[in-house]
Amino acid sequence: MPPRSSSPTRILDALRRAGLPGTAAQVAVLDYLRRAEHGHFSAEEIHRRIAADGDRMNLSTTYRVLNQLVEAGFVANVPLGKHHSLYELNTGRAHDHLVCVVCGRVEEFSDPTIDHRRVVIAKKFGLHLVGKTLALQGVCGECAARVHPARPRVK
Ligand SMILES: [Zn+2]
Ligand SMILES: [Zn+2]
Repeated sequence: MPPRSSSPTRILDALRRAGLPGTAAQVAVLDYLRRAEHGHFSAEEIHRRIAADGDRMNLSTTYRVLNQLVEAGFVANVPLGKHHSLYELNTGRAHDHLVCVVCGRVEEFSDPTIDHRRVVIAKKFGLHLVGKTLALQGVCGECAARVHPARPRVK
């Protein structure tokens, strides 16, 4: 375990208070996201980094643990299409995301008009909102600048 680790005992207490068993995998994932603070990570990335810290855990366990932590409110998920999500520590601060589909860069924003409208729109459709975060996907300025529109054609 790295020395900067935020007390695993306190993480374990918090997990148990939320009714989770507090398995080693749950502690490892939550500890990682707490140390990473404002990061947004895919399940694969979280899995890879925890493995690099020396903890053994398979990818399907990482997915299962992330779902448990999202359900318990410790972790927030940023849905990017049907089978892809990013995960971040749930700080209780409502915000939305801008995601570059080329480099994967994530920026956060919050806009009171969007916050209000999304509730109004969901209500109109009789939709009970479960996921609250919005992810706008596109190509960031830096990636757009790297694209050469006049690429020579290969014959
Ligand atoms: Zn980009
Ligand atoms: Zn975020």
